[in-house]
Amino acid sequence: MRVSRYFLPVLKENPAEAQIVSHRYMLRAGMIKQQAAGIYSWLPLGLRVLNRIQQIVNEEQIRAGHIPLLMPTLQPADLWRESGRYDDYGQEMLRIKDRQDREMLYGPTNEEMITDIFRAHVNSYKDLPLTLYHIQWKFRDEMRPRFGVMRGREFLMKDGYNFDVDKASALHAYNRHMVSYLRTYERMGLTAIPMRADSGPIGGDDTHEFLVLASTGESEVFFDSAVTELKLGNRAVDYDNWDEVANVCKEFTTLYARTDETHDEALFNAIPEERRKVARGIEVGQIFYFGTKYSEAMGATVVTADGTKVPVEMGSHGIGVSRLLGAIIEASHDDRGIIWPEGVTPFPVGIVNLKQGDAAADAACEGLYKALAAKGLEALYDDRDERAGAKFATMDLIGLPWRITVGPRGLANGVVELTSRRTGVSEEMTPEAAVARIAEIYKDI
Ligand code: ATP
Ligand code: MG
Repeated sequence: MRVSRYFLPVLKENPAEAQIVSHRYMLRAGMIKQQAAGIYSWLPLGLRVLNRIQQIVNEEQIRAGHIPLLMPTLQPADLWRESGRYDDYGQEMLRIKDRQDREMLYGPTNEEMITDIFRAHVNSYKDLPLTLYHIQWKFRDEMRPRFGVMRGREFLMKDGYNFDVDKASALHAYNRHMVSYLRTYERMGLTAIPMRADSGPIGGDDTHEFLVLASTGESEVFFDSAVTELKLGNRAVDYDNWDEVANVCKEFTTLYARTDETHDEALFNAIPEERRKVARGIEVGQIFYFGTKYSEAMGATVVTADGTKVPVEMGSHGIGVSRLLGAIIEASHDDRGIIWPEGVTPFPVGIVNLKQGDAAADAACEGLYKALAAKGLEALYDDRDERAGAKFATMDLIGLPWRITVGPRGLANGVVELTSRRTGVSEEMTPEAAVARIAEIYKDI
């Protein structure tokens, strides 16, 4: 993409309404525009990151054997009357009437609807296990929408639902989700710690929230600092192997890590003092095992191997897709702007032409742009007739992890400059070497 032809409405001034850094940078970098309290348009740069995040979520869900579908945003109230949640959900639910006076709602989550789909089509243990998920817009009429996409009213969520014949296999589905989530967040450059949590209105027994540590987080968390060192890395996990999956979960949930709702002072005080941490965190996901809560209420049953009919065992599992943009920025920025991890960056690399209109510089930039494209890498080429300082400021603000700087002086020696946004370290090399280096960095991403 060439900046001269793009739609990148960056702001010079700090927007007064933004209280936290991620909100400020998302507005300044021209990623989002507020349309009403907690409701945003996704401008092109923001949409690219949102799409990257969705792609990673999809890949990791599919790797775990979970199956995508798509349910609507609007739901009939009657489904929610079956579970009893139409009345329980309270003012967070946006209730709507259609022209026939039928009561509808904008879905805040989808347990009822997925249970309805299940009961219409599945009735045998032979069709299990089954996990269905979608990535869809949700609406919750939050009392205090704030911090940009972090606590929106309309927000994008991945929500998945497992159906299993018995509790043991439903708990395997829970564990499978935990591992797939760990991998998902790591690919986004995040450390998200699974913490024992409270189940709230969804209800149930087992639940973990995934928290990204950040001073602006809304949750108070208590943990053993050793938990922040754990990494899944590239290890291959066989999602069908119950023991292997359970062992990974054990590794990540044995050290103390809890939200304030489940915090236990005595257990916490048993941690060696230097590792005892109290901090704040951003909830980027949550997994639940809730057994037969919805299947019993809504009559979703399966016939087991011995011929008995039982309510299906379920759980639900969510990732805050749009909130993740804010969380990633809170975790990765400096005073000049965002620093995108390679996994989610809107463009893999930026090209800055220091002297637009200089024949050699223009030709070198075009050459780089095309050579990168040939390797499947879409660069953001700043081809505007602007001062170098302004171009650098824009690149730093929008946070592409790599920048190639091209100018007549370097080209006279056959070199361009490759700069890391994170470290600020620059290296001179030939344009071919710069392309090869970028391709190498992104080859497994
Ligand atoms: P919170 O406690 O932050 O209100 P929640 O526990 O009610 O969230 P869940 O039902 O667990 O939310 O939804 C799954 C995920 O969706 C959350 O982990 C969070 O990342 C995201 N999410 C929830 N509410 C919002 C919101 N208002 N704006 C953006 N993302 C949200
Ligand atoms: Mg939650």
